[in-house]
Amino acid sequence: MSLVNPPFISLICPCYNEQEVIGYFLSSVTPILESFKKPYEIIFINDGSRDKTLDVLLDSKARYPHIRIINLSRNFGKEAAMTAGLDVCQGEVVIPIDVDLQDPPELIKDFIREYESGYDVVVAKRVDRTSDSFAKKLSAEYFYKLHNKISQVTIPDNVGDYRLMSRKVITEIQKLPENQRFMKGIFAWVGFKTAVVEYVRQPRKAGTTSFNGWKLWNFALDGITSFSTVPLRIWLYMGMIIAFLAFVYGSVIIVKTLIYGIDSPGYASLITIILFIGGIQLMGIGILGEYIGRIYMESKRRPAYIIENEY
Ligand code: UDP
Ligand code: MG
Repeated sequence: MSLVNPPFISLICPCYNEQEVIGYFLSSVTPILESFKKPYEIIFINDGSRDKTLDVLLDSKARYPHIRIINLSRNFGKEAAMTAGLDVCQGEVVIPIDVDLQDPPELIKDFIREYESGYDVVVAKRVDRTSDSFAKKLSAEYFYKLHNKISQVTIPDNVGDYRLMSRKVITEIQKLPENQRFMKGIFAWVGFKTAVVEYVRQPRKAGTTSFNGWKLWNFALDGITSFSTVPLRIWLYMGMIIAFLAFVYGSVIIVKTLIYGIDSPGYASLITIILFIGGIQLMGIGILGEYIGRIYMESKRRPAYIIENEY
């Protein structure tokens, strides 16, 4: 659908159980969007919230006419919700933003300034993550380090989903057919001329985070397996190293037998080697399984999300 007068800015706001923060969010983001004196839309994607998020959104629509509400049929996760938003938005520039006000809305002004000076992507880089827990900071740091070492695309560290993208970039992102969408990787993969603005990450305004340790671990695995085949290739080298060690050890035993004759003890070394190789093989199979699982899910060609209705 193309509009006669498309919005200049589309905000993409995925919401999962965010009834408490939507009011704060709208009242802080609207004055900033109004200041550009250009048409805009705020797209909320209700990602199967179990609280009153949808009712709060529907109520807000009376006061804020620029709102669009995309209601998903169930909880599909933030990545899918964001994908839904990117698919339906019509703005010339598109900004995904969390509704919990951890992404400061004032930054939108800097985004637009950089966009107008010729950048297609403007990312927001956190210079201070004191609002995040220690474990989250540490795991994030190591995740980015590892990911960037073994993937073809580099995800800049301390850059989240909060960013500006031009229509050109969104058009390319929409062409990517995968339904398991690791958006940080996808954003980095499409490239384009990128500017960076720095900010301090705020604590959550209200409500609670939906990303606990286990979810983050799985998210990290998704990220790495989506954009790298290095974990598969490791096993080639692992096999070569073990074969080489086996050859050396075998030669030593042969020489020893020739010189000293056969000595039968060796239960300890035997069992150690069998268990070691067994463990290594299981790890290799596990990693293969991880990728086969992804191929399986991808080959079903299911959509990343289902829209119940747009309000
Ligand atoms: N979110 C979502 N679906 C989910 C989980 C989260 O749409 O299944 C949204 C959530 O409403 C918020 C954003 O994703 O706007 C970031 O979530 P959260 O603040 O819980 O994560 P954190 O900032 O702690 O990483
Ligand atoms: Mg948050």
